[in-house]
Amino acid sequence: MPATLLEVQPKQPKPRKQKGLLLANIGQVLTLASASAPTGPRRSAALRELRIIHDAAVLCLGGKIVSVGPTKDALRDPWIRKNRRKITEIDCSRKVVIPGFVDSHTHPVFVAPRLVDFEKRIEGASYEQIAAAGGGIRSSLEGVRKAAKTVLAAKVRTVLEDMAAYGTTTVEAKSGYGLTLESELKSLEAIRTAAANWPGTVVPTLLGAHVVPKEFQDCSQKYVEFVCKDMIPSAARRRLARFVDVFCDRGAFTPEQTEQIFEAARQNGLSVRAHMGQLSETRLAPFLRFHPASFDHMDHVHDDDIGPLVKSDTVATLVPGANYFLGWKDYPNARRLIDSGVAVALATDYNPGTSPTISMPMAMSLACTHMKMSPTEALAAATINGAWALGVADRKGSIEPGKDADLAVFDVQDYREIPYWFGSNHCAMTILNGVLAAPD
Ligand SMILES: [Zn+2]
Repeated sequence: MPATLLEVQPKQPKPRKQKGLLLANIGQVLTLASASAPTGPRRSAALRELRIIHDAAVLCLGGKIVSVGPTKDALRDPWIRKNRRKITEIDCSRKVVIPGFVDSHTHPVFVAPRLVDFEKRIEGASYEQIAAAGGGIRSSLEGVRKAAKTVLAAKVRTVLEDMAAYGTTTVEAKSGYGLTLESELKSLEAIRTAAANWPGTVVPTLLGAHVVPKEFQDCSQKYVEFVCKDMIPSAARRRLARFVDVFCDRGAFTPEQTEQIFEAARQNGLSVRAHMGQLSETRLAPFLRFHPASFDHMDHVHDDDIGPLVKSDTVATLVPGANYFLGWKDYPNARRLIDSGVAVALATDYNPGTSPTISMPMAMSLACTHMKMSPTEALAAATINGAWALGVADRKGSIEPGKDADLAVFDVQDYREIPYWFGSNHCAMTILNGVLAAPD
């Protein structure tokens, strides 16, 4: 991460005088604590180190994790014995506790589902045929452009709550369904408002370069210049985004345009990430000088790009929900990436066109069944490596003293059940920055 990176977090509610929390009698707590001082995202064998403690307890105070260890040690601890009345004790009844999921790729600012696209695709239309017929990303623009900011904020807030019910505590949220200056800023402001009313953590991203809007259809370069000269500086000035994202692919933006947008982001103090290799292969090594936090999708990756990726801290974020929903038989080659030493994360890619799911357990399940990731690897990719992909691994993604109290309690006996029971929600409780959220 470049040192100039702006830390732009939507305002969180002032931590109310929170009562401490003691989660006791946990069957398995997956700490994901690092073996040594963390030096970067988990790769290869390190992606399989969950550091499980059995019969465990976790103490959280003031929104932070204070200690994690065996329940019997916690119950003997003199401070806990003395202050037991001041803390809320939760008997986890042998359930499994994991770090809250870090969903590092979502598009939550839209108005309506894309049901016509859904049916057309079932009838055999391709992604690009749907886009050419006026469906796809462009069909979501009108709704967002017309919607009041309060309406968008309420929609995002609902999504954040749904995500928390599935164990997610940190969410990257992109704009990208407005594609005018006004509607992109409105989308980012809606994300900020929604985040301020949610106890979890939201990392906002400007995705002005999602697709070329109709008004610029035959002059995409003019649109790129508008993104660079107007959108990015305006979002940066208002501190509305931490990242700038680009959809670099056939039918979207070229590698040259992507470099131009990355350069504008850098000049405005924003970090970068990109949708890469979903539909076609783009050479990645030339972009690494911008230190992208993440390249996402990665269905098509050139052999010669693997080495440079291994040497970088850029995370490959795989989003198998999109492959599933598009009905593709091919998925990103996770084994090739992981076995070569590329850092891999998992995310939902929540969006109305190609991946309408908020479920990280579902993304994990698809990673196991279709990408041959082990449940262990999928769990680490969905937590600590998601945190690295957002530049928040110093606070998120593992259960270690000093980190934010972001935890998910699953009503299962073994963590491998989380991707195993696909399509049903076994998350019993989520703790977001020390605030308890349980399903109604
Ligand atoms: Zn996406």
